[in-house]
Amino acid sequence: MTGGATGPSPLPGLLDIAPYVGGESEIEGVERVIKLASNEGAFGPSPKAMQALRDTAGEVYRYPDGDSQKLRAALAAKHGIHMERIVVGAGSDDLITLLCRAYAGVDDEVLFTAHAFAMYPIYARGVRATLVAAPEDGITADVDNLLERAGENTKLLFLANPNNPTGTYLPVDEIRRLRAGLPDHVLLVLDAAYCEYVSRNDYEPGINLVDGSDNILMLRTFSKIYGLGGLRIGWCYGPEMVIDVLNRLRSPFNVSNSGQAAALAALGDDEFVEMSRKHNDACREWTTSALRKIGITVPDGVCNFVLARFAEEPGRNAEAADAFLRAKGIIVRRMGGYGLPDSLRISIGTDEEMKMVVDILTEFMGA
Ligand SMILES: *Cc1c(COP(=O)(O)O)cnc(C)c1O
Repeated sequence: MTGGATGPSPLPGLLDIAPYVGGESEIEGVERVIKLASNEGAFGPSPKAMQALRDTAGEVYRYPDGDSQKLRAALAAKHGIHMERIVVGAGSDDLITLLCRAYAGVDDEVLFTAHAFAMYPIYARGVRATLVAAPEDGITADVDNLLERAGENTKLLFLANPNNPTGTYLPVDEIRRLRAGLPDHVLLVLDAAYCEYVSRNDYEPGINLVDGSDNILMLRTFSKIYGLGGLRIGWCYGPEMVIDVLNRLRSPFNVSNSGQAAALAALGDDEFVEMSRKHNDACREWTTSALRKIGITVPDGVCNFVLARFAEEPGRNAEAADAFLRAKGIIVRRMGGYGLPDSLRISIGTDEEMKMVVDILTEFMGA
């Protein structure tokens, strides 16, 4: 560590935060890299979003609309909800950190599932709250285990539904049972970052759940199916009281003018979203069964990635598979940090990219 006894000292606990490690995008000595490490969508952004970016380039010297009025109005119209109950953030990350700052402090507990999205513990530590991880049923969230751990000091429960990195989800009945069993003072945050990819009859992203409750908030993002991760745009829909707090706490200009314009255009491109969803459905199923055929364990998932689980043998394990893929220019994500050291998370790319992944892993498995 740098700095001596006279340097500034951060608040207790902050140095326990392990900085988030994002997916890499380069491999030394490899020119053409295929990046399947951050679930960014197989096709890049919608052409309409790119056009909006070009159209607004000359406006970037102006401050943005701090209330993202047009984008919120479009989101409200699309989903049949009130724009007053929407807050837009610099990615859903921005909203996760605001929720932690608003509702959890020292001695408060923030609850999540054992294999939850890594940002929840990072931001919960940032406000010096106590982290509580509930064991899962295999790799699926378990309502009873969550309820058992929700008590007087619990302020927030973050649940990604479906979850990253496991790809599993809870049906809406289970979410209702969870909410009904939680103390009223716990805010249930449903992170629906991947909801556009889910086509299951028993799944709901959370709009109806928010409507029927005072203590559920839904998070959404433009970073996945909309392909705008680099612009940092997310939003939430929640109870008036919570929305009011977030609006007081957020940075007044938290979303750029270009970001708002691109998101608005992307939201209007239903065709692109539908094409992406269809591709993802087919390509995830194809990839899943191809990997299973060569002896890799792939749990059923509903997102734009697959979890590939390997045996423990040295030379045949996830670490070795990752090295083998990297040597051929393919970057996927190791999952040790999520308590899944036997797994690689592989984002669904184009058909051609997934065929390459399968071919390389076939060689690796010696199948
Ligand atoms: C990718 C992801 C997000 C999106 O984060 P942004 O800050 O909006 O880019 C949120 N939650 C989960 C579970 C994710 O996997």
